[in-house]
Amino acid sequence: MKRLLSARARAEVGKRTGVASGVLGALCVLAVLCFLLPDLLVTRDALPFYVAHLGLLRTILQACILAAFALGAASILLLRSKTYGLIGIGLGAVALLMGGAQAEPVELGAAGGRAFAAGLDYFVLELLVLALLFVPLERLYALRRQNIFRAGWQTDLKHFFVSHAGVQLLSFASMIPAQALFAWTLQLDFQKAVAAQPLWLQFIEILLAVDFMTYWVHRSFHSVPWLWSFHAVHHSSRQMDWLAGSRMHIVDVLVTRAAAFLPVFVLGFAPAALYAYLVFVSFHAVYIHANVRWRWPLLRWVIATPEFHHWHHTSDEEGLDKNFASFLPLWDRVFGTAHLPDHWPKNYGTVEFQPPETWVGQLLYPFRRRGKRTPYG
Ligand SMILES: [Zn+2]
Ligand SMILES: [Zn+2]
Repeated sequence: MKRLLSARARAEVGKRTGVASGVLGALCVLAVLCFLLPDLLVTRDALPFYVAHLGLLRTILQACILAAFALGAASILLLRSKTYGLIGIGLGAVALLMGGAQAEPVELGAAGGRAFAAGLDYFVLELLVLALLFVPLERLYALRRQNIFRAGWQTDLKHFFVSHAGVQLLSFASMIPAQALFAWTLQLDFQKAVAAQPLWLQFIEILLAVDFMTYWVHRSFHSVPWLWSFHAVHHSSRQMDWLAGSRMHIVDVLVTRAAAFLPVFVLGFAPAALYAYLVFVSFHAVYIHANVRWRWPLLRWVIATPEFHHWHHTSDEEGLDKNFASFLPLWDRVFGTAHLPDHWPKNYGTVEFQPPETWVGQLLYPFRRRGKRTPYG
């Protein structure tokens, strides 16, 4: 019995190291592509930063390729099936053959004149940083015991890829409505006054204004049946963790961001305050989905915590259609939708209709469900 259990444990570790090796190997291939084709694949605004830290980035890439090999080898030793480990090692080898950490940009002629570049660098770095931060946190302070590679993680990773690699296009598209409708507000006196305030004050004002706006957009996504079929994708996760928050229909992402940008554009906040806000909320949005048990007793009614947002994702009757605010529970208190008891929710997911598990299925889901009645969840 003891030998059987240890064999099972070895296989489990072997599978996890194999999958980790494959994911890391794929990230290395994408990172080498960024080194080879920066004009096409790297976020334009970040290029000067990368040029200034090229040595460090090459060292990190080298370490990741080595780690993909080491994890792959461990998986081959531990697991009877060699496929996982071999895929990881194979991807590491592809990264090396493409030039590895020494890869130099390939000349593409007039590439510098392109208006858009993919944010492949943003995808690779953000995934690496978030995984290094949240995987250990979720091991040490787990709310629930669950596998890192739980059901649906690949679908969530595809959503994560689209929202990060397509960051420039998505940002551009979500600014169009504000610019088209409110261009006439530019350079009004009150905008100059808003931008002249201390940055910390602008930061708080952005939080209040954007959160008020997105509270109502989010609530509409729950109460208008057709909109709900887009937002149901975000609620379809049965297990919560740092990657689950990425599961969002692209229409949901665009509409929410476009609405969030409206008050920012009309009020005319300074770009520095806006950037600080964006960095802050992008981490916060990941954190509130995480599988961590910290309850923040003093802050739980001031800012949205994992506990607050887990209640938003619950399929337990008591928590349905509650806690719409992204950051400030204040709005849920004011509009009567707050729910934060002393216990954690038991179950997560949609109540009745369950969107498909595949990424393509989730993208098509609202269009297939169009016209049918959908309950909230
Ligand atoms: Zn929701
Ligand atoms: Zn969520």
